[in-house]
Amino acid sequence: MDAAEFRRRGREMVDYVADYLENIEQRPVYPDLEPGYLRPLIPAEAPLEPETFEDIMRDVERVIMPGVTHWQSPYFYAYFPAASSFPAMLADMLSGAIGCIGFSWAASPACTELETVMMDWLGRMLQLPECFIAETHGHGGGVIQGTASEATLMALLAARCKAIRRVQASSPETPEAEIFSKLVAYTSEQAHSSVERAALIGGVMMRKVPTDNSYAVRGDMLKKMLEEDKSAGLIPFYFCATLGTTPSCAFDRLTELGPICNEGNVWMHVDAAYAGSAFICPEFRPLLNGIEFANSFNFNPHKWLLVNFDCSAMWVKNRADIIGAFKVEPLYLKHENQESGLVTDYRHWQIPLGRRFRSLKMWFVFRMYGLNGLQSHIRKQVALAKEFESLVRADKRFEICAEVIMGLVCFRLKGSNERNQNLLKKIAKSREIHLVPCQLSGRFVLRFAVCARTTESRHIQQAWRHITQLTFELLQD
Ligand SMILES: *Cc1c(COP(=O)(O)O)cnc(C)c1O
Repeated sequence: MDAAEFRRRGREMVDYVADYLENIEQRPVYPDLEPGYLRPLIPAEAPLEPETFEDIMRDVERVIMPGVTHWQSPYFYAYFPAASSFPAMLADMLSGAIGCIGFSWAASPACTELETVMMDWLGRMLQLPECFIAETHGHGGGVIQGTASEATLMALLAARCKAIRRVQASSPETPEAEIFSKLVAYTSEQAHSSVERAALIGGVMMRKVPTDNSYAVRGDMLKKMLEEDKSAGLIPFYFCATLGTTPSCAFDRLTELGPICNEGNVWMHVDAAYAGSAFICPEFRPLLNGIEFANSFNFNPHKWLLVNFDCSAMWVKNRADIIGAFKVEPLYLKHENQESGLVTDYRHWQIPLGRRFRSLKMWFVFRMYGLNGLQSHIRKQVALAKEFESLVRADKRFEICAEVIMGLVCFRLKGSNERNQNLLKKIAKSREIHLVPCQLSGRFVLRFAVCARTTESRHIQQAWRHITQLTFELLQD
């Protein structure tokens, strides 16, 4: 493909994408096929001779689309949203064209510098304390990670390194392996599975902190566990708080937990993967109070802030903690500006070396929506969730299982778990909407998350009509 053909095909592809998204409601939101469906549809080996673009696009409809779960469909209510917007897609195209690997400042200065500034813009939108903002020449700053899982892991590894150095400073004779074996990390029993995985990867013990009856971790519960473990000779070093838990969007109490962590030399990382986007709205910002106690904070603009995957925004209060943890400098990665103290080499802030030019997506989206546009998006989706909540509450056969604060509604049919499992099976079988369950206090609960950017009231009303129709059938049987 030469540049002339690229111009033509590029326009065709933009049309295909616009048609796909405009007509997405006509496609079944969830595919109806068996595992292994794809292999028989395409040749067993890559072609020897070049094929045409038309051939490939025909196969997109024949091979790919039947096997796609349409996350951008307004009938998709599963998991949490996967952000998508036209400005972000266009910016990603530009990122692909530039095709730089921005591991250091010198590897592409714009890639690094735009990222630092975009993280400051976003930090200011959230009214983060100045200690997290890079511009103020404090010790903090932001970085784009691929996912919240990576941010949680980076924070845990940095905390582990800091704890080992601290213990060694006071008792230099203690072998590192011995310190290692005593380290304990903590998180909520409602935390995302990626937090438990971070501890597995980091090779440290992890304890789950029980939650109160709104599924939030409270200060006294953590404090009790820290004291128990310390008196048993263990070394608590890391606590991952969640703002907006995945099962029910609960909020751990940072203002209680923060001081306890700070006093006990426990690194507090805050995972707000989904809910973080809402803190750009003043009415939700109080849920972030206590962030001043955190060592690191992360949320996913790629969930709810209209920036396509992958874009996970992470801030640290003291960047030396993260950079110092795993700094390795071979000669081929050195550059003459790095000693000036003014440059950031983001490779030290993350696990991989290579990184894409992801800040372009943020820049395009922030400018084309403006803060007002982004706030409207959040508010609209919260209002749609509240609309669904009132439909559920008006039907005495159902109950709401957790306070609806953002775009997630946890609900169930009153009665047995089996009855709710059967309802979900019926929903899955009819393929009109897509949602997933969760477990709360031993109960099987349906999660209804407002996801697609184009979701409107009529979709919510239709989804509820569909659910009540299936409920009617279920209760008849
Ligand atoms: C979605 C989610 C994650 C995982 O996000 P990734 O970016 O896919 O790693 C982590 N924590 C919470 C609370 C989440 O909701």
